[in-house]
Amino acid sequence: MKPAPFEYAAPDTIDEAIHVISQNDPDEVKILAGGQSLMPLLNMRLARPQLLLDLSRVRELAYIRELDAGVAIGAMTTKRDLEESPLIRERHPLFHAATRLIGHPQIRNRGTVGGSFAQADPAAEYPAVALALDIEIVAQGAGGTRRIAADDFFITYLTTALEPGEILTEIRVPELPAGTGWSFQELARRHGDFALVGATVTLRLEAGRCSDPRIVVFGVVDRATRFAEAEALVAGQPAEPATFERAAAQVAESIEDPLSDVHGSGEYRRDLARVLTQRALVEAAGRAN
Ligand SMILES: Cc1cc2nc3c(=O)[nH]c(=O)nc-3n(C[C@H](O)[C@H](O)[C@H](O)COP(=O)(O)OP(=O)(O)OC[C@H]3O[C@@H](n4cnc5c(N)ncnc54)[C@H](O)[C@@H]3O)c2cc1C
Repeated sequence: MKPAPFEYAAPDTIDEAIHVISQNDPDEVKILAGGQSLMPLLNMRLARPQLLLDLSRVRELAYIRELDAGVAIGAMTTKRDLEESPLIRERHPLFHAATRLIGHPQIRNRGTVGGSFAQADPAAEYPAVALALDIEIVAQGAGGTRRIAADDFFITYLTTALEPGEILTEIRVPELPAGTGWSFQELARRHGDFALVGATVTLRLEAGRCSDPRIVVFGVVDRATRFAEAEALVAGQPAEPATFERAAAQVAESIEDPLSDVHGSGEYRRDLARVLTQRALVEAAGRAN
């Protein structure tokens, strides 16, 4: 199929992009980044914007920059750039590992960081990474710039806290405390497919006891989700199998209405969430310190 007719603009700078949006009805503008998710939607006419605003010429949005305590990544940075970045591999190995699980090299060559955050697919890796690493999202619009915590950014299936007309310009990844262990687990039917379910964990160990655990599961409800009750069962407890089994069982119990489709029933996904959480806890504890 071919897309419905649309106007097209390809600005060179963020300011120009925001100006173009301000000259149009923001609800009728669709931002084009790598096109890996949007192009199929346009072709199937599930998206029918009046104006397609292509950010591919906005080079000021493609960067990976070291901050005092973390890394800033421009929205138009491709997944391939992240995968190849020594800074990301060394300082944010969880982010690096998750990036390598996204689609195929062709997808990672074109697909951008901002595109995956804005798309907010419940089975995508980056929203889970964002919750696990406490990433901050920077958005710019006619009204100025604002920063949104990952916890507040992903609302539901394909829906974020971005307002119509706002451009996601940057994500800011804070430095993990020294000694933090991490794990990123997922199961996909074939290499390169979206995950059926995934789990990611960060935690630290203090005298053999777990501290500051973060447990995030994706692909099982309408968005990547942190499991506070399961985290509470891990915090302060010995890093041993019984602790991790209890927390993983709690994750499964907390999932109210698991997604169900031709690839896997809700009950299968719920159980997969338990299994992957347990594996992630064990691996993260093994990597801590
Ligand atoms: C075969 C295939 C397999 C894939 N497998 C995976 C996978 O395993 N895991 C995974 O996570 N993804 C997967 N994807 C999706 C891929 O990662 C996309 O790159 C990503 O979802 C969107 O990034 P994009 O840059 O292509 O954005 P686009 O497709 O251009 O845009 C996606 C959405 O985000 C909006 N948007 C983009 N940039 C901005 C911005 N800066 N500010 C505001 N809004 C913006 C667009 O308007 C659109 O609504 C797959 C895609 C394909 C085709």
